[in-house]
Amino acid sequence: LTRLYAPLTALASARVEVMSALVSFERVFEVLDLEPLIKEKPDARSLPDGPVTVEFDAVGFAYPAADKVSLASLEEVAKLDARGGTQVLHDISFRVEPGQLVALVGSSGAGKSTIASLVPRLYDVDTGAVRLSGVDVRDVTFSSMRDTLGLVTQDGHLFHESVRSNLMLANPAASEADLWDALRRARLDGLIAELPDGLDTVVGERGYRLSGGERQRLTIARLLLARPRVVILDEATAHLDSTSEAAVQAALTEALSGRTALVIAHRLSTVRAADLILVVEDGRIVERGTHADLLAAGGRYEELYRTQFDQAPTTVTA
Ligand code: ADP
Ligand code: MG
Repeated sequence: LTRLYAPLTALASARVEVMSALVSFERVFEVLDLEPLIKEKPDARSLPDGPVTVEFDAVGFAYPAADKVSLASLEEVAKLDARGGTQVLHDISFRVEPGQLVALVGSSGAGKSTIASLVPRLYDVDTGAVRLSGVDVRDVTFSSMRDTLGLVTQDGHLFHESVRSNLMLANPAASEADLWDALRRARLDGLIAELPDGLDTVVGERGYRLSGGERQRLTIARLLLARPRVVILDEATAHLDSTSEAAVQAALTEALSGRTALVIAHRLSTVRAADLILVVEDGRIVERGTHADLLAAGGRYEELYRTQFDQAPTTVTA
């Protein structure tokens, strides 16, 4: 079968699934039978071994026009046009050094998810470049991208297949013991062990209904199995109760440790721990620095800090 790896133009909602399931692009495209827009160059190369730096260099980006049409009703399209175009990112430049955690914060619609989607090349930039260890992502093979990048979103997309299959997508060579180890580290081993079919329980839309927190933990188990050198994380926690929030947090801390990480951060604890915080507003980086720097500056970050971050007791450290 042909390797397919690309954004979808026909189904905006399906793109979300692609984002959530970076480990299994081929599967998604097989199922949807779509022609990829993003193609691998004939002379594409693998990334060098070792730690990875993520670099955005003066990136400008507008969503392709086809996406507007795909957003559904004509009414929707008219609204988008009235907004005067879809230029979403302007002159975005930053670096995530190996082992660093960089947090993107900002209000809804600012462009954070769009920035994250350019790393696995779900879209190509219009101006500037996104580089991994100095190599433009447009010059990297898809298999190397897949091996290097791991992505966790709030939705924790699962295929309508067994827990085992969902995990094996991340690492086809994983043993039974590896699977249980990853489940244990994601605090999900107890639940799976109690299911009548254990690892062979079918999950997903029409399968056993995992809660939002459980789905996210299964995605994290997948990440722990894949051991990608770069982790991209949309950590939204809206649908987690405080018990699963704490469990997810612990598993994520482990999944992120020692990795190069770009995190769309909603939890104060993650933001505080970041090596660098980028405040995104209207598609631009308007402030950058550490938590302490930015609080002292008393600007947009300080405002977000007061109004937006989840400050539930489980996530605030003294
Ligand atoms: P954030 O993650 O910060 O909430 P997004 O990156 O999702 O923001 O969105 C930034 C802007 O891009 C918003 O105006 C949003 O409506 C628009 N946008 C997001 N996805 C698409 C898409 N597939 N097609 C067209 N516009 C989009
Ligand atoms: Mg978002």
